[in-house]
Amino acid sequence: FDDIRKVDPEVARAIEAEGERQNSHIELIASENWVSKAVMSAMGSILTNKYAEGYPGRRYYGGCQCVDVVEDLARDRAKKLFGCDYVNVQPHSGAQANLAAFFAILKPGDKILGMNLDHGGHLTHGSPVNISGKYFETSFYGVNDQGVIDYDVVRETALREKPKLIIAGASAYPRIIDFKKFREIADEAGAYLMVDMAHIAGLVAAGQHPSPIPYADVVTTTTHKTLRGPRGGMILANQEAADKFNFDKAVFPGTQGGPLEHVIAGKAVCFQEALTPEFKEYQEQIVVNAKALAKGLTDRGVKLVSGGTDNHLMLVDLSEEDVTGKDLENRLDEAHITCNKNAIPNDPRSPKVTSGVRLGTPAVTTRGMKEADMDKIAEAVAMVIRDECYVGQARRIVESLTEKYPLTY
Ligand code: PLP
Repeated sequence: FDDIRKVDPEVARAIEAEGERQNSHIELIASENWVSKAVMSAMGSILTNKYAEGYPGRRYYGGCQCVDVVEDLARDRAKKLFGCDYVNVQPHSGAQANLAAFFAILKPGDKILGMNLDHGGHLTHGSPVNISGKYFETSFYGVNDQGVIDYDVVRETALREKPKLIIAGASAYPRIIDFKKFREIADEAGAYLMVDMAHIAGLVAAGQHPSPIPYADVVTTTTHKTLRGPRGGMILANQEAADKFNFDKAVFPGTQGGPLEHVIAGKAVCFQEALTPEFKEYQEQIVVNAKALAKGLTDRGVKLVSGGTDNHLMLVDLSEEDVTGKDLENRLDEAHITCNKNAIPNDPRSPKVTSGVRLGTPAVTTRGMKEADMDKIAEAVAMVIRDECYVGQARRIVESLTEKYPLTY
């Protein structure tokens, strides 16, 4: 860090300030986490100096023998972790993994069916502002009045629209997704099935959420959410689909250039960590903590979409409260709790305002917090929802927790 300070004090100051912010705030953004020091070191390693277009054993550059070892380790460990035959660890992000999967399976103008963004889906699943919504013909499914995916509607829409690809997976869905049912619907409609497990990858790796691998033609993910690895993406498939669709070619040269081998090293280290019993315990605790946070909130009269959670996140429904998602995000930030505003199903407010906030437990669980701590967080969140004047009191609760669980870097 001294090296940065010497060369570029402005950037060093901003990084230091961010370290202070991360340490003094409770992180409830459901897609964020703290990587281990080992993952961090891999990302900051000399592998960033290496060009390695292509794949291990078939590169377009010389001197790739060492990065080949790293990329092979990452691929082998990911296959073991998720129990699949094929993996590509080169996507720079989740959005890049999705784009490459589309490029391998679809042609411009083909039909796709994804989860409505307003109901918890992701931008890359057909939103009109994303390339997926501009290059493909889109249709959407969503959740019912109970906030749960309505599989009858998925089926009806699939049979009516006849998409070439159905996308399952979400960014703000607090319940278990039934991948077997999605497979049955895809088969009935003559569609391929893609599962974007970005949010739940860690839970899947540890058996806390059913795996999509036996059912999907292709699975995409990020590596930095519940999986607790470096910021990046990945594509997984069984042999049959890997033989049918050339995912490698779709990543490079299809949609990317040289791979980020330092990040791939971080992925390899992350997968090694994820294969340990401690990681399994960590994922179990994420779910236990999410249930405790949800209980703490609902016990205090806070409404949650679908009434609770089965995974690592929950969606606070503010439609009957006197505060918008945007205002609550700001209020909580003042109380040193970080979260994001989020549309709730059929939200009457715009995406920039919203009637909800999304809360998740992966980061606080990494920090070491347990059920009793979740109840304190619920107390702080609930009081800030009710009245802005409680921000100071909530911040004192936060301080007691951040002091009890200091960050180790
Ligand atoms: N897919 C899902 C379900 C996500 O939630 C996200 C990110 O939030 C992505 C894809 C995109 O990942 P990235 O931000 O790494 O491009």
